[in-house]
Amino acid sequence: MEIKLSKHAGFCFGVERAVGTVYDLIKTGKTIYTYGPIVHNEEVVRELEEKGVKVIKSEEELESIIPEKDAVAVIRAHGVPVKIQELLSKKGFEVVDATCPFVKKIHKTVMNKNSDGDSIIIVGDPLHPEVIGIKGQFDGECIIFKDVSDAEKFVPEAGKSYTMVSQTTFQSKKFKEIVEILEKKEYNVHVVNTICNATEERQRAAETLAAEADAMIVIGSAGSSNTRKLYEICRNCCENTFYVQTPNDLDMSKIASADLVGITAGASTPQKLIEEVQNNVRGTYF
Ligand code: SF4
Repeated sequence: MEIKLSKHAGFCFGVERAVGTVYDLIKTGKTIYTYGPIVHNEEVVRELEEKGVKVIKSEEELESIIPEKDAVAVIRAHGVPVKIQELLSKKGFEVVDATCPFVKKIHKTVMNKNSDGDSIIIVGDPLHPEVIGIKGQFDGECIIFKDVSDAEKFVPEAGKSYTMVSQTTFQSKKFKEIVEILEKKEYNVHVVNTICNATEERQRAAETLAAEADAMIVIGSAGSSNTRKLYEICRNCCENTFYVQTPNDLDMSKIASADLVGITAGASTPQKLIEEVQNNVRGTYF
């Protein structure tokens, strides 16, 4: 059996930066909070909680908190709506913004549209914090396309201009399909492709590996949308694709007959976990 790790797997630049920011702040001895889990990975969050980092789980919880004098609130890579950032400051937190610069760029694009009357279309999961954060930069009408079918059903308001951005982790193939639908219908939509390179790189590398592998292991938290997308992509090319959150989730008997086992991991999966899964497979079959 051969094990191949995807060329691009695990922490992306934005996640690495946000997690690093929290670890640096821990050294200051201040009381550290994050608004929402810093990344969509339970292992990372648990490790930080053990070091005293507190997670604010919702706006309601934030409303009820009386922060310590030295409390710092870190905004995670996905970003937050303007009103949450304002509420954190109002509450007396020192706010450290670890929003990924690529997400920040989307915020700016959307914010600029507040003054010129365009409506916004966001392609992505309406319940994902990144999409909620993008939406929360805009005062006007904001439409969300969850999938290609929403673009097919879309009927624009007469005379209205739209600016369309995407969740950074949206599947690029589906995004292109959506753009093609809108172009065919000749709608007045200014498209800004905001899918992140890290996502595309991971998706392309995973697809290439899954096409040659007999079994694929996709590592990441159940709550990680980019991991779920990697799983979908790999599953399309390789029937024996397995989604695991921890090394223990993998039923080794399912990959026993594979000559080539491919491994990939979402952008919020730490290196440590990837190594553990690799070592588990090696330990069983080598
Ligand atoms: S996937 Fe891209 S946009 Fe999202 S946090 Fe990572 S680097 Fe930033």
